[in-house]
Amino acid sequence: MSTPTHCLRCGADLSKTGSIMSKFNQDTICLDCKERERNHPAYPAADAAEIAAVERGEMNFPGVGCPRELYWFSLVQPGDALRPAPAWNRTERPNQHLASPTKVLRVTPANSQSGVLFTVKTLGGHERTLDAGWFLPPKSPQEKGA
Ligand SMILES: [Zn+2]
Repeated sequence: MSTPTHCLRCGADLSKTGSIMSKFNQDTICLDCKERERNHPAYPAADAAEIAAVERGEMNFPGVGCPRELYWFSLVQPGDALRPAPAWNRTERPNQHLASPTKVLRVTPANSQSGVLFTVKTLGGHERTLDAGWFLPPKSPQEKGA
C-alpha cells in the first residue's frame, strides 16, 4: 500500500497542504478540496450514507462515489493551458508531441474514465483529442527535465 503524495482532485502536493480522506470515496485529498467537497450539495447525503454504514457494522464503507465536478479536469475550459503527461511525449512520434503547456482548443464530454476529452494541437500541427488522463493536474509540480 502506498500513501499518495499528491491530491487526487487537484494535484496539490499533500506534504505542503495537509491531507484528509474524502467523504465521497477513498481518495486522499488536500484541505482545499475537502472544503470544496463540504460545500457540495451531495455532501450531507454522503455523510449520512457513511453513518448508516457504520451503524450496520460496515467499517470499510467505500463511500457513495465522488461527483465528477470535484475533479480538476471538470473545471478545464477551452483556452486553458495544460501540461501533457510525460508519457505522451515519450511514447508518441515527434510530430505528435505536445508543447508544455499546451492550449486546450475544445472540451468534449466522453464515456471515458475521466469523462472528458481535450482537443489540442501537436507540434506537428495536427489536432488530437485526448482523454484528460494524458494531462497533469494544474497544481502538480513540474516534472524534472520537462
Ligand atoms: Zn486538492
